[in-house]
Amino acid sequence: MPDVSVGFAGLGLPDQIVGTLRSLGYEEPTPIQAEAIPPLISGRDLLGQAATGTGKTAAFALPVLAQVDGQAESGAPSALILVPTRELAVQVQKSTQEYARGTGASVLAVFGGQPIGRQIAPLKRGVDVVVATPGRAIDHIRRGSLKTDQVRMLVLDEADEMLDMGFADELETILEGLPESRQTALFSATMPARIESIAKRHMSDPVRVEIKRREREPGEGPQIRQTAHLVSRHQKPAALGRVIDMEEPGSAIVFCRTRYEVDQLTETLGGRGFRADALHGGMTQDQRDRVMGRLRSGSTQLLVATDVAARGLDVDHLTHVFNYGLPTAAEQYVHRIGRVGRAGRTGIAVTIAEPREQRRIKDIQRLTKLPISVEDLPTVAALKKKRLEQTEAALAESLEQAEGDSLAPFRAAADSLSSRFAPEEIAAAALKLAHEARSGTIDETEIVPAARKKERRPAGNARPSKPGQRAKSQPAGDHTRLFFSVGRSASVTPRDLVGAIANEGGLSGRQIGAIQVKENFSLVEVPSGAADGVVRAMRSSRIKGRKATIRRERF
Ligand code: AMP
Repeated sequence: MPDVSVGFAGLGLPDQIVGTLRSLGYEEPTPIQAEAIPPLISGRDLLGQAATGTGKTAAFALPVLAQVDGQAESGAPSALILVPTRELAVQVQKSTQEYARGTGASVLAVFGGQPIGRQIAPLKRGVDVVVATPGRAIDHIRRGSLKTDQVRMLVLDEADEMLDMGFADELETILEGLPESRQTALFSATMPARIESIAKRHMSDPVRVEIKRREREPGEGPQIRQTAHLVSRHQKPAALGRVIDMEEPGSAIVFCRTRYEVDQLTETLGGRGFRADALHGGMTQDQRDRVMGRLRSGSTQLLVATDVAARGLDVDHLTHVFNYGLPTAAEQYVHRIGRVGRAGRTGIAVTIAEPREQRRIKDIQRLTKLPISVEDLPTVAALKKKRLEQTEAALAESLEQAEGDSLAPFRAAADSLSSRFAPEEIAAAALKLAHEARSGTIDETEIVPAARKKERRPAGNARPSKPGQRAKSQPAGDHTRLFFSVGRSASVTPRDLVGAIANEGGLSGRQIGAIQVKENFSLVEVPSGAADGVVRAMRSSRIKGRKATIRRERF
């Protein structure tokens, strides 16, 4: 195991960057960071085997920024990061720019699909770090807009995916053109022979880093039912709420990655009516004790915590663990779920993950040798059915346990009602009242499942055009609500709307956000950039055989 206890300061990073990481809420380096950062800072080449979600972006971005530090004057980029898709380019650029706060370093993403002209001006003005897809990097190198003669560090991220997507020639050309003295870091989830061959030809005595997986014997360890739901990022809070509503945990931990995620999610859950408390490394011992007291007494139901804060917690009555996203290391997942299933009880671990994390779910299954069942989220209908069954069970229990004359005060009212209504009607109406009082309100927003990678490919229209390219994107963050003039009264379901929008509006299912079906109309979130196109394309559409008016929602 790498030593993560030294913290970021012990890895040789500049103070400014260490401060930024602290302000981002990162409590300690992930294993890949602890292993990769020191050799990269010392100038070694590195071959890293790690999947997305392990914190590998920071593992290379931080050393990249450490070497840019103080060199920001030259104008030509001193680091080039190559990634397979434009979505990853944007993500890596964003993270790297965030880590660069206060250093003065600039980071630019260039990728296919965006007009090349728009990328030339910022390149000409001078940037320190360029994040690029291989095809677009070549275009810029050929035009002279991307100068590579000052590049001191090259990163190949998700190298196996770049090869799978047919970028081998582009990589070869770019690698040939870079200064020989440069440092190279290559990250890949798998290490096929083709990657080894690149390493042999283009890297010099690389340090090899693999995040070791501790194997577990089948059946070893506690009884835990593990499920995962894949949803796009903006639907994660609603999805977690739905799962908690369905599971009704006695007491549970919700694991987050950073203390800011903890604070944000605690607030969101509170806003949804859950009893949730935050626990993270930024709290005093006093505050932590108070939170633990509330959990033990049952006045808090959900403890929202970082891995570090939850370490060493002495609670053995938890019924559920919720992973709000996968942890950065598979071992951490094992630690997390080990919090339930104690004392012979079956524990439940539910993970809310993004589709891009699906590969890591498989890695974790391999490690634990226990199945994680990737399932659709419970629907609103399933949730309502379960709640009604509970009300029915509560009523049956109350009838069975009714002692002596505990029902006497209600009998006169029952007699009076039965002279006017049928007994079944009275019972149903009383059940309705009791049910509404018991189960409160539930969030009826339908959450559209994100497509699983193997089952459904996104529509090609909104994707880069490279053949065989795999899309990793989530629906764009910026959504617009469209109004559809059909609803429940026309027997319309969310599935009908998704089907119609996918067939006629030209969007893929995963690009569609939250859907609300009301009595006489429905509201559907679509990416803002696509809203007008969908309205136009669906002008004469029929949904469930009905002509529907479709427009942007008016407020
Ligand atoms: P990546 O594997 O680079 O896609 O990172 C996965 C997620 O982990 C990102 O959301 C990062 O912000 C987050 N992350 C990276 N390093 C750390 C860390 N040391 N502590 C907490 N979160 C981290």
